[in-house]
Amino acid sequence: MSMTFSGQVAMVTGAAAGIGRATALAFAAEGLKVVVADLDSEGGEGTVALIHAAGGEAIFVRCNVTKDAEVQHLMAEAITAFGRVDYAFNNAGIEIEKGRLSEGTEDEFDAIMGVNVKGVWLCMKYQLPLMLAQGGGAIVNTASVAGLGAAPKMSIYAASKHAVIGLTKSAAIEYAKKKIRVNAVCPAVIDTDMYRRAHEADPKKAEFVAVMHPVGRIGTVNEIASAVLYLCSDGASFTTGHALAVDGGVTAI
Ligand code: NAD
Repeated sequence: MSMTFSGQVAMVTGAAAGIGRATALAFAAEGLKVVVADLDSEGGEGTVALIHAAGGEAIFVRCNVTKDAEVQHLMAEAITAFGRVDYAFNNAGIEIEKGRLSEGTEDEFDAIMGVNVKGVWLCMKYQLPLMLAQGGGAIVNTASVAGLGAAPKMSIYAASKHAVIGLTKSAAIEYAKKKIRVNAVCPAVIDTDMYRRAHEADPKKAEFVAVMHPVGRIGTVNEIASAVLYLCSDGASFTTGHALAVDGGVTAI
C-alpha cells in the first residue's frame, strides 16, 4: 500500500545511520524532499548520496541536536533549500550505559539526557512554529519500549525515553487544534549499529535478545521506517499524542 502525504518536505535527525537513514530513504522513495541531519557528516552525506542515486532530492545539514544554535541553523537550511518542513522525525539518540543505576556517571546522565531529551525538545521547539506558520504538519519522535516500562541496567536511557513520550504527549495536546500531530514510535531491539555495539560481541546475549521478542527475532530498520511514515501520512490524521510500540510483541507480555 502506498501511503499518501499532503506535504512535500521531511526532516530526519540521526539520519546518517540505522533507523534514521532507513526512514530518510523511505520518505524519499515516497517522493518527499528530505533534510538529512546528523553529527556524522560522512554518514549523512552517504544517506544523501543513496537518495540521489535512487532519483530523490535531499540535503545534508550537520547538526548537533543538543545545541540550540545548531538546531536553529538546521531549520534555516531546510527553509532555504525547500521552503518548508511538513514532517519531522526527531530520532537522534544515544545509548552508552552498561551498568546498574548506582554505577552510572554524571557524564553519562548528561550525555544521554542531552541528546535524547534536550535534542528532541530543541528540535520540536523550532519545528512547531514553522509548522504553525505553514498551517500544519506532523512530528514523530523516537522513544523506545524503554520509554514504556523498565529497562534494567539502562535506567538513564529509560528515563530519557519516558521523557520523550512526555514531550510528545504535551506538544500533541498544545497543538491538537492547529493541525499539527505529534506522536512517538517505540521500537524494541532493532538491528542497527547501536544494537551491534551493545550485543553482537556476545552471541549468547544476541540469542537471548532475539528470543526475548515474542516473534522470535529482533526488528529491522524498515519496520520502524514504515511505522514513522504511517504516523506522518494522511492515514493517521486522527492519531496524535500516541506512543506506538513497534516491538514484535514485547510490551504485550
Ligand atoms: P544509530 O547509532 O545507528 O544511529 C543514531 C544516529 O544518531 C547516528 O547517526 C548518530 O551520529 C546520530 N547522533 C547521535 N548523537 C547526535 C547528536 N547529538 N546530534 C545529531 N545526531 C546525533 O542508532 P539507531 O539504532 O538507528 O537509533 C536511532 C534511535 O532509535 C535512537 O533514538 C535510539 O535511542 C532509538 N532506538 C533504537 C533501538 C535499537 O535497538 N537500535 C531501540 C529503541 C530505540
